[in-house]
Amino acid sequence: MEIALGTGNEHKVFEINEIVKGVNKNIVFVLPKGEFNPVEDGSTFEENSLIKAREGARLSGMLTLADDSGLCIDALDGAPGLYSARYAGTQDEKIARILKELEGKENRKAKFVCCMTLVDKDGNVVHTTRGECHGHIIKERKGTNGFGYDPVFMPDGFDITLAEMSENGKNAISHRGRALVKMLDFIKDMEH
Ligand code: IMP
Repeated sequence: MEIALGTGNEHKVFEINEIVKGVNKNIVFVLPKGEFNPVEDGSTFEENSLIKAREGARLSGMLTLADDSGLCIDALDGAPGLYSARYAGTQDEKIARILKELEGKENRKAKFVCCMTLVDKDGNVVHTTRGECHGHIIKERKGTNGFGYDPVFMPDGFDITLAEMSENGKNAISHRGRALVKMLDFIKDMEH
């Protein structure tokens, strides 16, 4: 079963395909051809995942899955949240910004959120899922794996950051892994 992925983030494609391989070998995710340029102006992760899924379906004419994700920090009233990708110039500057904003704050609790939307070839919603990964922001970067804010995010129950975990280790507990496993469960039933 071929499903298009509404994304422009190659690392995400890699992570998603890694998870899918271990769960359902019948599903292959493919990138839609053409310029993927959605206007992500939704006010929730759900809305933005729908916008990306519809853009993917428009380009591919196929059943399409898209996700939207971000980091929500308690002491920053949920920031960077929807603006996680745009919180500063480079990824290093984005991390520097949250570390600065958290200076002197005792509560460093945070969570990654991922919403996924599956649409049919015409852009109608078929199913949505959500996954969360709870933890806290440490004071200095640790680890080089993963991407984004991984080097400063320590998930609950671990004393290493997401950037110190193996790809499989991260996928087993990540927001994206959790949302995807729920989605794959739904897709499995569609196959019959
Ligand atoms: P989007 O889902 O492509 O809009 O991603 C939003 C942003 O959230 C990314 O550019 C990253 O900065 C951040 N983000 C989302 N998922 C992760 C993750 O698994 N690790 C680290 N940062 C993430």
